[in-house]
Amino acid sequence: MADNRAFYNEILIDHNMHPGHKHELPDADMEMRGYNPTCGDDITLRLKVENDVVVDGAFTGSGCAISQASADMMLDLVIGKPREEALHLADIFLRMIKGTATEDEIDELEEAGILKDVSHMPARVKCAVLGWHTLEQMLDGEEE
Ligand code: ZN
Repeated sequence: MADNRAFYNEILIDHNMHPGHKHELPDADMEMRGYNPTCGDDITLRLKVENDVVVDGAFTGSGCAISQASADMMLDLVIGKPREEALHLADIFLRMIKGTATEDEIDELEEAGILKDVSHMPARVKCAVLGWHTLEQMLDGEEE
């Protein structure tokens, strides 16, 4: 893909200028802060989970373009999904950034798959995984 880099930048800019999920969530039933001291990214992720399905989610906070876009794309992907599926997607994302996810798995991440190249940018890894790592911690602790 020759224009992959331009496409990547366009998506990052779009999610930063027009984040779909960056807002308060007053009726959330889960809340967790994610902090990346290396870069200063500081987000609070909130989820509303009903019958083991992520019915809504949002984040607040601040950080670099990658951390914000990654959290926004993550919420695009997991809202409406069962908890198990959201955990499965988070696992793929975290492995993608480590460079161990397959192409088929990365396809499951839809738009978030564009962050694959971050695996070659060690300084940005913690930015990209911040939201996903926070999501995984929140949902993993919810076993009934
Ligand atoms: Zn960052």
